[in-house]
Formats: sequence, C-alpha cells, structure tokens
Amino acid sequence: MRSEVKNQAVCACGQASITVNALPTTQGICHCTNCKRRTGSAFGISAYFPKAAVIEMTGETKVYRLNHLKQERHFCPTCGTTLFWFTSAAAESIGIAGGCFADEGLPEPAYSVTDRKRWPWVSLPERWKVFPE
Ligand SMILES: [Zn+2]
Ligand SMILES: [Zn+2]
Repeated sequence: MRSEVKNQAVCACGQASITVNALPTTQGICHCTNCKRRTGSAFGISAYFPKAAVIEMTGETKVYRLNHLKQERHFCPTCGTTLFWFTSAAAESIGIAGGCFADEGLPEPAYSVTDRKRWPWVSLPERWKVFPE
C-alpha cells in the first residue's frame, strides 16, 4: 500500500464526505434489486476498506438499517446519497459507495455479484469474477 494514497468520496450535494488513505481491499458491483434502488442506477459499486483507513469524515449522515446482513447505511440527510455502510458480511471493513469517488475514481472492480439480476445491456470485462447470487 502506498502511504500517499488519499481517496475522497463525496455525496451529491457535497455536504458529507469520507476520506481513506488506502485503495479498496475488495471492490465489486452488485445487481440486486436493493442496490438498484439505493443508487437509482443499474448496479451498485461497493468498495471495502479497513476501518482504520478512514482518515477524515466531514458533514452529517443519517442511518437506516436493513436486517439483511445487518446493514447499517449512512446517507446524507440533504441529498440522500448513501455514502458508506457497515455490514456483517464484512465486519472488519467499511463499505463506501464506489461512485462517490467521482473525481479521482478507484481502480477497476474485480467481481460482479447477484449477476443473475444483471440487466442484459450491461456488459462486463471477462476477467471479472462472476457470482450468480
Ligand atoms: Zn449530500
Ligand atoms: Zn446489492
């Protein structure tokens, strides 16, 4: 890990941000119904970092919880962007919405989950790992 890495994710209105000093330990996209609704897009990009990689948070977030995988999602109360979350599926990590790293971007994701729900017009690189569920 390069120590100079600094990636900032920002909500749509700019009120809330979270900055990490690492690249994602895992990053993938998910085609489930909930990710479509959460993002208003064809899929969600989930980037996971060690919790200790968070070096700065600005602004205010509110939280809602989902029983599925004990998710705790933090969103901007002004614009509604889901910025980051915690889940029992990755208990040592913090998940951050990949698209919120809009300016610099992140490295290419490595996998596709809930791929059986991928919309037929979404094509992905063949080198990605695919998980039907
Ligand atoms: Zn916002
Ligand atoms: Zn999903």
